Amino acid sequence: MRGAMLYGPYDVRFEERDAPTILEPTDAIIRISATCVCGSDLWLYRGVTPISAPTPMGHEYCGIVEAVGVEVSSITPGQFVIGSFFTSDNTCPHCLAGYQSSCLHRENINRAQAPLLRVSLADGTLVATPDIPTDDLIPSLLALSDVMATGWFAADAANVTPGKVVVVVGDGAVGLLAMLSAKQRGAGRIIAMSRHPARQQLALEFGATDIVPERGDEGVARIKELTDGIGADAVLECVGTQEAMMQAIRFTRPGGYVGYIGVPHGVTLDGQDLFFRHVRLHGGPAPARRFLPELIELVWKKQINPGKVFDLTLPLDQVAEGYRAMDERRAIKALLLP
Ligand SMILES: [Zn+2]
Ligand SMILES: [Zn+2]
Repeated sequence: MRGAMLYGPYDVRFEERDAPTILEPTDAIIRISATCVCGSDLWLYRGVTPISAPTPMGHEYCGIVEAVGVEVSSITPGQFVIGSFFTSDNTCPHCLAGYQSSCLHRENINRAQAPLLRVSLADGTLVATPDIPTDDLIPSLLALSDVMATGWFAADAANVTPGKVVVVVGDGAVGLLAMLSAKQRGAGRIIAMSRHPARQQLALEFGATDIVPERGDEGVARIKELTDGIGADAVLECVGTQEAMMQAIRFTRPGGYVGYIGVPHGVTLDGQDLFFRHVRLHGGPAPARRFLPELIELVWKKQINPGKVFDLTLPLDQVAEGYRAMDERRAIKALLLP
């Protein structure tokens, strides 16, 4: 079979490699129905995070179970499943606390941009849908593997509850789905920081009530103005840069929450500044596995449609174009079909 490999900056190739097989009795092999390119893949693609050798790519996936190891009991061949970008046993203390992405036995998924994928710890990682989905549901189900679960975690970490004033920093796919998550959780007001017209449109569709194009000091001033000088109850930081993180902390009212899920690059915080702000910071890689049952139900009942963030669909063998389109911001997120 062929799969996506990154050779160096801006060099993605779709090339022949061995098909995966069951290696451990707890493994499953999935025939991928859809996969995609992630915003976090772009850090590697652009060379910001250097690689030392050709690297297989892809960590968002859903599809039909092709085979399972002898110890797998909750998943059976023929089922449609979704899994997280980190595997988890779902039995260790961190998993039981709801932090499956810190599982003591977690492994990275990084070969999902291919027709077949091996997933270890299948029982604790994969969740089956109630039935085989129709094609129109597949983009939204795929989104649960990472991008929607991550937006949801931002809202969860920032304690978004009914009536809260929420600011979302970032209008990438995760930022947009953080807005959808805040809306679904009953936020009273959702202020989207966005300068991009097409993304502003989707932000409004997903529940944003206000759009703020300003950034930096001007952005902070604008948020203060919109919140009567108080700041937001919850800020969802979906970028990962120093500027975005500091904006998020500065928008938050004393006692408020910052949920940060943008992978930080070069972010440093000043302890004394933080001390006097009285804000609560919580974030990290989303425990997608915790949210999968609830989110699958919301998609299945068509209460949410996170698949709308995919504005480009390509055959999997054109994966390199998916990276280019996202790098050049021609696409919010590229869906890939084997
Ligand atoms: Zn991802
Ligand atoms: Zn665990």
